[in-house]
Amino acid sequence: MTRILDLDAGLIRRRVAAAGVVGAGGAGFPTHVKLNASAEIYLVNGAECEPLLKVDQQMADEQAEWLIKGLLYGMAATGAAEGIIALKAKYQAAIDRLTPLLPERVRLHILPDIYPAGDEVITIWLATGRRVPPAQLPLSIGVVVSNVQTLINVARAVELEQPVTQRTLTVNGAVRQPLTLSLPLGTPLREALALAGGCTVSNPAFINGGPMMGHLLDDLDEPVTKTTGGLLVLPEDHLLIRRRRQSMDTVLAMARSVCEQCTLCTELCPRHMIGHELPPHLIVRATNYQHIAQPSVLLSALTCSECGICEAYACPVEISPMRLNQALKGRLRAEGARYEGELRAADPMAEYRLLPVSRLISRLELQAFNHKAPMQVTDDAPREVSLPLRQHIGVAAEPCVGVGQTVVAGQCIASIPEGQLGVPLHASIDGQVIEVGISHIRIAASTADTLSQGESPCITPSA
Ligand code: SF4
Ligand code: SF4
Repeated sequence: MTRILDLDAGLIRRRVAAAGVVGAGGAGFPTHVKLNASAEIYLVNGAECEPLLKVDQQMADEQAEWLIKGLLYGMAATGAAEGIIALKAKYQAAIDRLTPLLPERVRLHILPDIYPAGDEVITIWLATGRRVPPAQLPLSIGVVVSNVQTLINVARAVELEQPVTQRTLTVNGAVRQPLTLSLPLGTPLREALALAGGCTVSNPAFINGGPMMGHLLDDLDEPVTKTTGGLLVLPEDHLLIRRRRQSMDTVLAMARSVCEQCTLCTELCPRHMIGHELPPHLIVRATNYQHIAQPSVLLSALTCSECGICEAYACPVEISPMRLNQALKGRLRAEGARYEGELRAADPMAEYRLLPVSRLISRLELQAFNHKAPMQVTDDAPREVSLPLRQHIGVAAEPCVGVGQTVVAGQCIASIPEGQLGVPLHASIDGQVIEVGISHIRIAASTADTLSQGESPCITPSA
């Protein structure tokens, strides 16, 4: 396998670009651009620290060979001398599968079960001891990071020239049959819910992604994309749903009226712990006192990872410094502001302040919703898919098919203009193009063996 390291870096990047591979961990950054860098360490982020999501830990087990190949292709493209696969100790099946396959220059790093071990800045610190300065990329300290699913897609792109047409995601929470499954891109999330047997509560609310960083979903027709990590179902009155439904006015009013400046949000902020300035308690104070703060304090909101610890765990009076940071970030970005502070000394107590996931699950009242969600294979295909033209960072892909055209799964249906940042888009099912919109392409399946659509996947709990 190590002969992969001698492969032509340009060929690897071209195949990865043609396959439309993006960072599957959430950001959707085009992977071929990342592979253009020169790095010392290639790190696989297999932490998957969002409670309830069970994708990477199972893929690292079931597709261990592909993962290692993907890492070696990443190392070959970037010239990285060392490869590290960072996994939590509790992913024992994946560790057992990967260990005998490890080639020279590749090692496992076993992470503690803490949140947010999957924030790449924290993963790097835990796995290498290196600290990414605030507002800098991992590459600034010689590290490139990809997640498990991304590197499996890289390996398939290079070896098989296989484009990204599917996404593996977990459906968990208040569902009859929690599971993890691969679906064609563009499949409506309501079909993922139907495959999980529907809801077990009569007042369901939905989160696209994990409980900490996922967003509220009001429309189950939203499609599976290259970065969809999961679909969570919780009762409407669950605290995570109530918090997400809080208006910004309420968030501001609470910050103004009840912040006691206890500093817990700052003491537990993972970015602050490893030496970033980011002091959420001072940002809250600035909100209370007409933005009276050092300019760098307000600008440091730009370095917030939005991990949610300050909101979901630290604050004893239910203030959300994260929401304030999000609002501040939006304003600062619109003004073109940048944060330029230096990396400071790390908190000497940092490793003792890391937040165990078990405690987080308990604080978030998620025990009853944290199911195993084993990997399952489905042969059912969606009747129709709606493929967003922008599932990545960069410009939207430009359609190269027309209404009425017959397409096959894997066929390129939208491409990126020469010299622009982005990745092409491929048909995820065989069928006929039925709409070419400004933001998406819809394809109707040509087979009869499709999932039913339109019926409510939510059912009342059985007695
Ligand atoms: S969300 Fe809160 S805890 Fe997380 S990085 Fe931002 S300020 Fe720190
Ligand atoms: S934890 Fe809450 S109360 Fe304490 S300083 Fe932060 S926002 Fe204020």
